[in-house]
Amino acid sequence: MTKDDFIMPFAGAPLDHDEEGRTMEALNGHLQNKDCEAVLFMDGRPAVNEQGQLWKIHPNELKGTNVAEPAPVFLGLNGKTPVFAFSLADDQAVIPKEAFQEMRMIAGRMPADDLAIAGRGRALFQWFHHHPFCSACGTKNTVMNGGLYSHCDNCNRDHFPRVNPVAIMLILRGDHCLLGRSAGWPDGAFSALAGFVSPGESIEEACIRETQEEVGIDVRNVKYVFSQPWPFPSQLMIGLTCETEQTDFTVNTNELEKAQWFTKDEVKAVFAKQSEVFLRPPRFTIAHQLLRHWISK
Ligand SMILES: [Zn+2]
Repeated sequence: MTKDDFIMPFAGAPLDHDEEGRTMEALNGHLQNKDCEAVLFMDGRPAVNEQGQLWKIHPNELKGTNVAEPAPVFLGLNGKTPVFAFSLADDQAVIPKEAFQEMRMIAGRMPADDLAIAGRGRALFQWFHHHPFCSACGTKNTVMNGGLYSHCDNCNRDHFPRVNPVAIMLILRGDHCLLGRSAGWPDGAFSALAGFVSPGESIEEACIRETQEEVGIDVRNVKYVFSQPWPFPSQLMIGLTCETEQTDFTVNTNELEKAQWFTKDEVKAVFAKQSEVFLRPPRFTIAHQLLRHWISK
């Protein structure tokens, strides 16, 4: 699937990260640009207006405000407009506290561009907030180039914000698809199986191992479909299909509460809102997009 077909939620940010041009001088120049935009976060929650759009202010409006490190994070250039992100402390009143919303709650109604910008900001802040010290020697890191990476002045190591790869797969048997659910999910909710890629294995091997671990099914013919940046806290979801001839499965209850085969017609009916045989994953998830891709073929 190409970028022209659709934009994966959280992807498609209209930002040039400008990795080469992030000198202190350039960043200070951006901050003085009259069109410069600041997007705001509090504990990973972006500030949005009533329409679900990112709440944007000029960084100058934050003068005197107590912002969390690192500050500011330069997200990139949107055309010629520099876009920065700031993480505010709880007691700040630059904008109403109610504007800061849980991203999962508002992701479904945010404009695609804003969702992608918010996801990038959230993932970066989560990483910097949880990695203030050098993982090798424990010295306080220095944030470099407007939040491109961290540097340890003591042992001279660079630390880059980490992205964790996750294999997420539709297990297909002819026109059937196996979906699972975890305990605590909303009633009737089912989704694609998924698991972190482990050191020493390929994406395909992660898919084969996870399906064996979670439902005891041997799969083959693993195919990549598309991927998604997922800012909870910072995964790269790698969307796959795989095939099996096996009908019977064994649910590993340490991982899943239940799994179930659904036919393509059943999934189509759910997506057409003509059936409630299961509750589909939200539109902003890659599981939703994988299922939509499968039933469109
Ligand atoms: Zn160090």
